[in-house]
Amino acid sequence: MDTDIIVIGAGLAGLQCARRAERSGLRVIVLEAEDSVGGRVRTDQVDGFLCDRGFQVLNPAYPAVHDWIDVPGLGLQRFGVGVVVRSGQTTSTLARPLRHPQLALETLRSEHLPASDVLALARWLGPALLRPSLVRRAEQDQTLAVAFDEAGLTGRLRRDVLDTFLAGVLADSTGGSSANFVRYLMRFFALGVPGLPRAGMQALPEQMAAWLDQPVRLRVAARGIREISDGVQVDTDDGAIRARAAVVAVGPQVVGALTPLPTPATRGLTTWWFRTPEQPQQHPYLILDASRPGGGPAGPIWHTAVVSNAAPSYAPAGEHLVEATTLLDRPDGRADEAAVRRDLERIYQTSTQRWELLVHHVVPHTLPAQLPPFVEREPRWTGDRVLVTGDHQGSGSIQGALVSGDRAGRVVGDLLA
Ligand SMILES: Cc1cc2nc3c(=O)[nH]c(=O)nc-3n(C[C@H](O)[C@H](O)[C@H](O)COP(=O)(O)OP(=O)(O)OC[C@H]3O[C@@H](n4cnc5c(N)ncnc54)[C@H](O)[C@@H]3O)c2cc1C
Repeated sequence: MDTDIIVIGAGLAGLQCARRAERSGLRVIVLEAEDSVGGRVRTDQVDGFLCDRGFQVLNPAYPAVHDWIDVPGLGLQRFGVGVVVRSGQTTSTLARPLRHPQLALETLRSEHLPASDVLALARWLGPALLRPSLVRRAEQDQTLAVAFDEAGLTGRLRRDVLDTFLAGVLADSTGGSSANFVRYLMRFFALGVPGLPRAGMQALPEQMAAWLDQPVRLRVAARGIREISDGVQVDTDDGAIRARAAVVAVGPQVVGALTPLPTPATRGLTTWWFRTPEQPQQHPYLILDASRPGGGPAGPIWHTAVVSNAAPSYAPAGEHLVEATTLLDRPDGRADEAAVRRDLERIYQTSTQRWELLVHHVVPHTLPAQLPPFVEREPRWTGDRVLVTGDHQGSGSIQGALVSGDRAGRVVGDLLA
């Protein structure tokens, strides 16, 4: 045998799995098809700017992040706790009053926060905040749209803020995602202040990879797995590797090619990254558009932010970085640069003529579709010695990927003990 365990895929799940197994004293080889670790958590460096491959944030309130990641070592730069809502010609800031007391009055007076909606949201979310176990009751789950309707959450808070914000988080504009999954995520939004690592989101998987005993084998794709008498054989372009067990930690779109499991449905988005010589806004909040009659965005952009306001390391001194995200389940999800610029001009009320496009990421498999009921599954065995892990086996999030990977590391460690 070449090793005890082969882990296929160096995303968050694979890295956490390898780390957990190594802690049990096992020898692990991690194979990664790409030229760098991280999977869906990668960062491009373009002309001194940091452009994550699809805008995303790290929430330090995720228990897995708190327990297993050196968050201070990442130098998290935090966003403001709230959002700015554009509605026609006006904008208003909705911020958590205790954290941003200077904005408390504006927030409380906002037309986007009708009292009936605030009460309905409190009734719907409150119990889950106090008793997290509630959101794991699969029989009580339904789609987000139905859950909001039934909770009486039907006014501007929902139409102008929640539906748009959550569509960006879930890459799902249909309201068809699990309501319990959303309550699970919102608990962490309530508890933590998300941010971006000083060196970009990829610093997270790179930190994890640096903790491993053996360096990840980059640019080595697994082509097939078969069980042999006393273990498994993984075929790669570099030849066959034998181990006592294998863990498949690939993204959802690859699962069906390497294992007998069906390929899970996924949802996607695109992120446009622009450098701007002027600072188009000074605040560190995500901007949502609620300019369409009846609520929601009037154009292709579901959220945008001057990322460098919250995370100065993402842009060189004196310059600014703007992200704009579109959703691939919308007819205008693949809007071209001209359409995105027009929308940005409307949202920021400024010309984008001097803005320069740095890079545009199209991420069709951003997240596994998180349909109800929400159940956090265990990693799945597809043979006596092959285990499948990843966010598609847990929940579609950084937390879900880390927990699934950790469980896989424990389970395979127990098998080989
Ligand atoms: C744009 C975007 C925004 C997001 N926003 C957030 C957010 O704000 N908050 C949040 O919590 N989560 C967010 N997520 C989700 C989170 O990033 C993912 O849930 C998590 O990174 C998934 O990790 P994973 O290890 O399960 O899978 P992946 O990251 O997909 O890792 C799988 C790895 O396997 C490798 N691989 C595939 N095939 C092979 C092969 N044959 N051989 C070897 N290696 C192979 C891949 O190259 C990849 O490195 C976002 C994701 C994206 C893309």
